[in-house]
Amino acid sequence: MPARNILVINCGSSSIKFALVGEAQAQFPLSGIAERLGQPEAVLRWRRGDEKDCLAIPHAGHSAALAHLLPLVREASGGLLHGIGHRVVHGGEHFTAAQRIDAEVLEAIRAVAPLAPLHNPANLLGIEAAIEVYPDLPQVAVFDTAFHQTLPEHAYRYALPEVLYRDHGLRRYGFHGTSHHYVGQRAAELAGLPFEASNWLSAHLGNGCSTCAIVDGRSRDTSMGLTPLEGLVMGTRSGDVDPNLHSHLARTLGWDLARIERLLNHESGLLGLSGLSNDMRSLEQARADGHAGATLAIEVFCYRLAKSLAAMSCALPHLDGLIFTGGIGENSPLIRSKTVAHLRLLGLALDETANERCVRGTGGEIQATGHPRVLVVPTDEERQIALETLDLLDD
Ligand code: AMP
Repeated sequence: MPARNILVINCGSSSIKFALVGEAQAQFPLSGIAERLGQPEAVLRWRRGDEKDCLAIPHAGHSAALAHLLPLVREASGGLLHGIGHRVVHGGEHFTAAQRIDAEVLEAIRAVAPLAPLHNPANLLGIEAAIEVYPDLPQVAVFDTAFHQTLPEHAYRYALPEVLYRDHGLRRYGFHGTSHHYVGQRAAELAGLPFEASNWLSAHLGNGCSTCAIVDGRSRDTSMGLTPLEGLVMGTRSGDVDPNLHSHLARTLGWDLARIERLLNHESGLLGLSGLSNDMRSLEQARADGHAGATLAIEVFCYRLAKSLAAMSCALPHLDGLIFTGGIGENSPLIRSKTVAHLRLLGLALDETANERCVRGTGGEIQATGHPRVLVVPTDEERQIALETLDLLDD
């Protein structure tokens, strides 16, 4: 059988990120983004090998953007496209693994939309547009939450009355599952261990951040909850705060729900703490220049991350290694070093030369000799989505 090609689509409300993943190719033959969809400035940007190009597609919506993409995909895949894999943020309790999309699956994704009102409707737009433009191809939904459906009840239940769980689905779901799953498998491969019999702490640190405890290849706990706001300090998200903050802000400042949600999701985290930026590169530069807010933001980020990893360690029978991934995890020796410095009780320590070496796509082991394994593993959510799509095409 010739090597197969999968188009991976990650659809937002006004953008579509895409990557053509070749089963046998390390690099994506085609990748890019269609953005500002529905607006006069709508544009399709793509990369083929070292070539970058773009096309103005004024007022194009999701279907029109995918129709413009079609000839590019045909050319880059040599006319051999085997399926489409869609990233879907929330699968609720319904989806414990990737699914071939049919009318029933579409309905179930729609049914969990209230749990992810910003993301699932946008993901559905992408799926519907892709079905319209590529009616003959198998389409697969891969859920950010699915990997975490193996959490035990004592990890996923909130200490709230049962009726809220039973009738309204209020529980911890967790996100970034595709990434934690991918880097867990890669870490096991690198360490020469079977994934199904290995135990990891994983830290996905990008604009969104989460930790995960992986036991015998399955997620047993994770830091995000009902929504991707719970847990760590993130680019603009606060992560954990006192739940009474909502009523306190309403009472003392007269803020309504929309204002409080904006505060916690878009004005907090690294941006709020530093008063400067949500971007870790900018903050590291500012810290080096003596900026007090950037210095504090980095300290809080690392301490909270270490605290979360220590908490996740409760789920592990033993530790085969700590994994850093995501834009920050893969590129910031400073954040890795400061975080691991808080985890001496777990016996962790870094080889700082190895730590400095792991940036811009270079991964590997960075622990000091004689200490538990610490790995930098570049994530590849698109490839994981393509692999899960291919698995279903094989069935
Ligand atoms: P992601 O969402 O995975 O693309 O990650 C975005 C985050 O990674 C941003 O906070 C970036 O500033 C951060 N990042 C990317 N490159 C670096 C770098 N060289 N050093 C520190 N942070 C970086």
